[in-house]
Amino acid sequence: MNWVIDPPGRNILPVIGTEAVFPVGNVFCVGRNYADHAVEMGGDPDREPPFFFIKPSFSVLSPGHEMIYPDHSDDVHHEVEMVVALGTGGRNVRVQDAMQLVFGHAVGVDMTRRDRQAEAKEQRRPWEAGKSFVHAAPCSMITPIELTGAIETAGVSLSINGDVRQSGDVNQMIWKIPEIISRLSELFVLEAGDLIFTGTPAGVGPVKTGDELLANIDGLSELAFRISERRAS
Ligand code: MN
Repeated sequence: MNWVIDPPGRNILPVIGTEAVFPVGNVFCVGRNYADHAVEMGGDPDREPPFFFIKPSFSVLSPGHEMIYPDHSDDVHHEVEMVVALGTGGRNVRVQDAMQLVFGHAVGVDMTRRDRQAEAKEQRRPWEAGKSFVHAAPCSMITPIELTGAIETAGVSLSINGDVRQSGDVNQMIWKIPEIISRLSELFVLEAGDLIFTGTPAGVGPVKTGDELLANIDGLSELAFRISERRAS
């Protein structure tokens, strides 16, 4: 096939145990998937189920790089999350078949321009300005599922400059990974290369220039990055 323009390249993530890299597609995210975080955001997990939103591929920041503090915000928050990387796509995938799509797991941080998100909520507008920007989705190396099996219980934490800010267990998720994959595949189309950020436990809060973030999930490659100064524009 000849292209009228060159197709864009993809963001990539490294993979544990191989020099080969993972090409990132769409980034699906689950909102309010931990009850304690739903409560801290003013929700009631017994009345409102979790929901989805999407970040573009350009949001992903590979491990080993600094996150540049984004423009158009003075209140950027961290949300540590387990990330599921898909090796196979699908539509209308049954819950019992969903884990067959999983290539591996990683640790990610759903960075959020909380001021832009609050404004969008207030104006009953979409959230993109709050959730989608360059470096909005720092992500660790991917650990293939062959090395871990399905991960149903694992400590998840985030610290800033050595102080623990978020701490929980992925077993606290309201929607479990197979259920998330099945629902996403019904609402959208899942493709190989897609990432799913599965929600955050309580303790979200702001980051500032110079902060050193460390995100960890037991059994996975940790994610460490620094917040660097906003670029002069
Ligand atoms: Mn989140």
